[in-house]
Amino acid sequence: MEVSGLDSDGKEFKNAEEMWREQIGEDGEQQEKKTQWYREGISYWEGVEASVDGVLGGFGNVNEVDIKGSEAFLQMLLSDRFPNARNNQHLVALDCGSGIGRITKNLLIRYFNEVDLLEPVSHFLDAARESLAPENHMAPDMHKATNFFCVPLQDFTPETGRYDVIWVQWCIGHLTDDDFVSFFKRAKVGLKPGGFFVLKENIARSDIF
Ligand code: SAH
Repeated sequence: MEVSGLDSDGKEFKNAEEMWREQIGEDGEQQEKKTQWYREGISYWEGVEASVDGVLGGFGNVNEVDIKGSEAFLQMLLSDRFPNARNNQHLVALDCGSGIGRITKNLLIRYFNEVDLLEPVSHFLDAARESLAPENHMAPDMHKATNFFCVPLQDFTPETGRYDVIWVQWCIGHLTDDDFVSFFKRAKVGLKPGGFFVLKENIARSDIF
């Protein structure tokens, strides 16, 4: 797909390939430049406050409508895919690039018996651990945040067959295209039979935003 665009410094690229060539280089230099790409991604978030407004890039007011929209979508999927969930199924979700646990706390923990969080930035994950601790959070009976993985998606392979839903929201753009593909290939072994990925991202209506 030939779509031009600008980076955050206003530099124009003819297409995605040209942008990636500059960012992660040709094959030979790829590893070093790629490490740098990921380092810059993490260090950006290391400088951001552990709050809803912080993880939403200053758009904290989007939280409510985001959760409402996701809840309607999730309810549809759950009743379609897991019609017996209310009776006896033990549902488990993974919240990828969870930040401070905003989505787990406001949504996933109400629908899943267990939620694992994956987040490479430790001060975000610490905030999530704290706010989801049983003494600070009213989760329904038998619903809890279980594991807190402090790793990036490109280095993560889930336990086989653990998850009903792997939720990936507002973080996949950190991955290079090849790591994006290999993440989904690796992560699908983490799904139970009939389980699914939810990928939520913004799309630009034009090349300038
Ligand atoms: N999904 C959360 C946080 C969105 S902010 C929410 O909607 O509230 C983007 C998150 O992606 C940050 O927490 C950031 O630390 C995380 N992130 C950055 N690079 C990542 C990577 N390589 N793998 C996984 N998560 C990453």
